[in-house]
Amino acid sequence: MQKGNIRVQTENIFPIIKKFLYSEHDIFLRELISNAVDATQKLKTLSSIGEAKGELGDLSVTVAIDKDAKTLTISDKGVGMTAEEVDKYINQVAFSGAEEFLNKYKGQNENNIIGHFGLGFYSSFMVSDKVEILTKSFKEAPAVRWDCDGSPEYQLEEAAKEGRGTDIILHINEESQEFLEADRIKTVLKRFCRFLPVPIFFEGEQI
Ligand code: ADP
Ligand code: MG
Repeated sequence: MQKGNIRVQTENIFPIIKKFLYSEHDIFLRELISNAVDATQKLKTLSSIGEAKGELGDLSVTVAIDKDAKTLTISDKGVGMTAEEVDKYINQVAFSGAEEFLNKYKGQNENNIIGHFGLGFYSSFMVSDKVEILTKSFKEAPAVRWDCDGSPEYQLEEAAKEGRGTDIILHINEESQEFLEADRIKTVLKRFCRFLPVPIFFEGEQI
């Protein structure tokens, strides 16, 4: 088990996320779906140049709600991440220009800022008390679980996962319970998920 602090250039990105993305909470889903699609496309590319061996199988992305557990899960069967990659791509948040950027855009319409400032994965904390990543790389490497409760502290440990790819498990916070409603999720997905190169499924139905 590894414990540490997410390394950000500004002291804490979470207040920034809350402040600047306040008006459009549902963009977290677009960010997570686009990461899932990117991971899947990367795998296809690696396979086509012989760097990922074997049959790729089903490559669809699925979104699922668990009302009892109060979770929303986005799953892909893409490249996945090794522990080192989680450390590099998730823990070391490259927010070098963040403060400069925020100063520049201060006072402007929040929606403009959203468009320019890709918060990516961390936008999931707008709607979550806790976020878990369960991921298994296409490379020979143990699966890992990462979780973080919105403080800069995270935990990273080896875990069990059947297939290749990544599950992003959002523990939806009290104010964001709407994202545990199937109709709400479906509407957001229909808005964001047209023309994607990978099929997206929600409740057994292709979006
Ligand atoms: P960006 O997508 O702009 O790089 P993100 O914050 O959305 O920024 O994601 C950071 C990085 O985390 C990605 O570049 C990728 O390396 C990794 N990552 C995020 N989601 C996934 C996923 N579902 N599968 C594999 N890698 C992922
Ligand atoms: Mg992204």
